[in-house]
Amino acid sequence: MKFGGTSVGKPQRMQQVATLVTKDDERKIVVLSALSGTTNALVEISESLANRDRSAAKEQIEALQQHYRNFVLELLQEAETREKANVILNEHFEFLTIILKISFSQALNKDILAQGELLSTKLFCIYLEEKKIGHVLLPALDFMTIDSYDEPQVGTIKVKLAQLLNKHKDKNIFVTQGYISRNAKGEVDNLKRGGSDYSASLIAAAINASVCEIWTDIDGMHNNDPRVVEKTKAIEQLSFDEAAELAYFGAKILHPASIWPAQFFNVPVRLLNTLEPDAKGTLITEVAGSVGVKAVAAKDNITAIRIKSSRMLLAYGFLRKVFEVFEKHRTSIDMITTSEVAVSVTIDDDVHLPEILKELEAFGSVEMDTNQTIVSIVGNEIAETKDVMKKIFDAIEPIPVRMVSYGGSKHNVSLLIARNYKEQTLKLLNNGLFGL
Ligand code: ASP
Ligand code: MG
Repeated sequence: MKFGGTSVGKPQRMQQVATLVTKDDERKIVVLSALSGTTNALVEISESLANRDRSAAKEQIEALQQHYRNFVLELLQEAETREKANVILNEHFEFLTIILKISFSQALNKDILAQGELLSTKLFCIYLEEKKIGHVLLPALDFMTIDSYDEPQVGTIKVKLAQLLNKHKDKNIFVTQGYISRNAKGEVDNLKRGGSDYSASLIAAAINASVCEIWTDIDGMHNNDPRVVEKTKAIEQLSFDEAAELAYFGAKILHPASIWPAQFFNVPVRLLNTLEPDAKGTLITEVAGSVGVKAVAAKDNITAIRIKSSRMLLAYGFLRKVFEVFEKHRTSIDMITTSEVAVSVTIDDDVHLPEILKELEAFGSVEMDTNQTIVSIVGNEIAETKDVMKKIFDAIEPIPVRMVSYGGSKHNVSLLIARNYKEQTLKLLNNGLFGL
C-alpha cells in the first residue's frame, strides 16, 4: 500500500492512513511519500545552498522545521510519543543545520532530498506506536538499490527484502520509505521525483505481492485531464500497456516507470482514493477489459525536431545515424514520423538539445518547434476499432496537427499540437469520443 504526499500531508490524513492499513490482518508493506510540499521545500534548500545563499537556506530550513513541529502536535496526543517525535525532528533538522556549514555536492543534495521520506515514515511509526499498532520500520536504504545507470536492481532488492521480512515473521505491518534508494557507490540516492510509486511497484514485484495499491487523492485514472476538462470519469479497468501509455503521456496519477515491475512480475495495480476509500478506483492488470477508446492524456513541454535530407532518399542506415545522436546524449524519443525525405521526432528533455541539433545538422536541414504538446488517445485495440481515426479527426477539425503517430502500438494514437491548442483539443476529444 503506497500513500502519496497529500495522503500523509495533514495530521488527520496520516491518522486515516493508519486506519486504512489496519482494516484487515493481511501482511503488508506500507510505502510512504514525504508530506506534501516537503520534497519541493528540500529542493529549494538545496538550490539555495548550491547558490551559496546560506541565509535563504537557513530561513527555508526554519520554516520547514516549524511546519513539522506543528504537525507533530496535531498528530500525537501523548507526552511520551511527542517527545519521541521531537527527538526525531531534532536529529533531522540538526543534520539540515550542519549542511549549512559544509560545501555543497551532488551527494549532499541527495541526502537532503531523502529527509522527507525519512521523516514521514518515522512520524507515522510513532503514531502507530501511540495507537499500540504493531509494526516494523524497514529502512529503504537497506534494500532499495540502483546500479550505475540508475536502474533498480530487482534481484538484489528481492533477496535483501526477503531477509529483512524473515526477521519479523510475527509482524504484519511493515513501513518503508518511497523514493529513496542507495546507488552503486553506496551513497543515498533516489528514484527521481514522484518515484514513490516506482518504489511501491518494485517492492510489490520483489515480494510477489497479491496487489500493489497506490493511494492518492483522486478516485483512479481519469478518461481525460480533470484540470482541463470539466466532465471526466475514473476508468475502471486498464491493461498494463494502456496504463503505461497513459502514465507516460500525461496522466499525473501514476509515475510511468512504476508500470514495468508490476507488469513483468504480474502484480495487479489498484489506484485508490484516500478521501473515498470505498470507491472502486482503477484496476490495472494484464487484461484490458473492454475494447475501444478509454482515455485521452496530454504531455507538455515537447520539442519537435525535423531532419530533412535528400540523402535519405533510397538510403539505408539513415535513421540509425539519426537515432545514434539521441542515444549518445541519453535523450529518449517519444514520437516519430517519417516521409521519404524527412524524419520528425519529439523529445521531452531538452538538456542536450544544443549538442543534438549541432550533430544532426551534419545530416541535412534541421528545424525545431518548441512548446508542443503530445495528445495521446489510448484504448484497447483502438487501431483496429472501426471509425476511431474518423472520430478523432472529425472532433479536432479546427486544430492544426503537427505530427500523427498511429499503428506503433494497438493501444495508442498520438497527435502533436502546439501547446496553446491543448485545452481546446482535450475538450473537443472529450466531446467527440466520449460524448461528454
Ligand atoms: N517525495 C518525492 C517527490 O515529491 C517522491 C514521491 O512523492 O513520489 O517527488
Ligand atoms: Mg506522486
